[in-house]
Amino acid sequence: MLLAIDQGTTSTRAIVTDVRGNFRASAQQEFPQIFPRPGWVEHDPEAIWRSTIATTRRAIRSAGINNSNIAGLGIANQRETTLVWDRTNGQPIYNAIVWQDRRTAEWCQKMESRIGDRELGRRTGLLFDPYFSASKIAWILDHVSGARSAARAGRLAFGTVDTFLLWRLTSGRVHATDATNASRTMLYNLRAQDWDDDLLREFRLPRALLPEIRDSAADFGTADRNLFGFDIPIRAILGDQQAALVGQACFKPGMIKSTYGTGCFVVLNTGPQIVSSKHRLLTTVAYRLNGTSTFALEGSIFVAGAAVQWLRDQLGIIRTGADASGPAIARQERTGVYFIPAFTGLGAPYWDPNARGALIGLTRQTSRHEIVRAALEAVAYQTRDLMNVMAALSERAEANLRAIRVDGGMANNDLAMQFLADQLGLKVQRPRSTETTALGAAFMAGLGAGVFKSLRDIERIWQCDRIYSPKMPEDQRWRLESCRSPDFIGPPRPSPNIGKSDERQGI
Ligand code: ADP
Repeated sequence: MLLAIDQGTTSTRAIVTDVRGNFRASAQQEFPQIFPRPGWVEHDPEAIWRSTIATTRRAIRSAGINNSNIAGLGIANQRETTLVWDRTNGQPIYNAIVWQDRRTAEWCQKMESRIGDRELGRRTGLLFDPYFSASKIAWILDHVSGARSAARAGRLAFGTVDTFLLWRLTSGRVHATDATNASRTMLYNLRAQDWDDDLLREFRLPRALLPEIRDSAADFGTADRNLFGFDIPIRAILGDQQAALVGQACFKPGMIKSTYGTGCFVVLNTGPQIVSSKHRLLTTVAYRLNGTSTFALEGSIFVAGAAVQWLRDQLGIIRTGADASGPAIARQERTGVYFIPAFTGLGAPYWDPNARGALIGLTRQTSRHEIVRAALEAVAYQTRDLMNVMAALSERAEANLRAIRVDGGMANNDLAMQFLADQLGLKVQRPRSTETTALGAAFMAGLGAGVFKSLRDIERIWQCDRIYSPKMPEDQRWRLESCRSPDFIGPPRPSPNIGKSDERQGI
């Protein structure tokens, strides 16, 4: 059996699967979010640790696993969240600074004017933003008394959450991360596949802080027997979105997964090609196996399921999220109502922090069903805009783009997924298990433990629950598309999903 820990932003999950990817047990626990000031978000490292141990123990117990039937453990984690701890006692010197935290905006601006987004992009695939770990490490060193000199003397260790958990699970024997997590720090050079010494110097961060970088499926040591009653080999580490890509078995260039939870994360496998973008899409490591990286492009849409929540909680026009899948919505004809859920600005590919939501095309006949329908359709329109830009960046990916694999709460909405297929002109595939993040960590652990010989073995056990094929006539799709602002990606094109609006270049 395979064990996976999915350490997320609001909760920690542990799951057990058999070697065919069937769920045997799972446990979940939420932990508190700490908001010390506006824009600041922290987690108590001990709360992360306690929830990890508690859920893992529960999953182990209910699946009945022991040292004779456990093949390996994989960790998927909230990415970028930053911890610094004392190597001598494993005690963090500050709370975990969470990826959402914006306190380092000024640091990022300063560095951007010195180094430039272009240069950072060339090296790391990222852009100057507080989202990533580097500025958070610098903040801790600057604000915790004595931290800078302790870091220089090699007494401190930095880690994203995977690294912190690994350190604790191995009782401080292993200080390591994997390439996917490293690629979210702003310190990892994608071409050199190593920490970037020039950036470390510019950011005044000593290399002595940093973990060793390993493959995503690798020997990460053993979880101590005094934690779970027997030794557990740790065989995989991946950032959560990358784990979802693996859980969706998107292993070929052009394969793409889109997670429709509160927001939406789209990740496109670009194979061995490092693709960069003008539209502030991120270039990232999808996974690294046997020293070879597979890369991905990543874009996020801020509001997906959150629009449905808004209809429920703020407008009160549906009672539950599931009401948005009801027959009344499906029967509702399209009457030209458009909903732009830009509550907090627009994410990729627009990147307009000042944009705000809009509901347009209302008439005296507009019913609440039409508004709900427009909210579902908005997610498809936004995905289409993002995909148009993404796919055009990589020739190989573009040529192989056949389908999009979906997961997350909103992927259960048939109407939304059918409209997505219609808009993209692509098949939309929903897997049997939509717990793709945890599943991806379990799959990778299986690979690391030798249960799977290759990614092909994982491909074989990935199971599709439902396929939505495009049904809308081409002229109707065009009409809908041209009602919206076509300016950003140029006029609608006959090709179903490809808009050539961006540069195509390797780093
Ligand atoms: P997260 O991991 O971001 O918390 P989930 O993957 O659990 O999100 O998905 C929850 C989101 O999915 C909520 O925003 C909810 O409004 C939306 N959702 C759940 N069921 C449906 C549905 N049937 N139709 C549309 N949206 C849904």
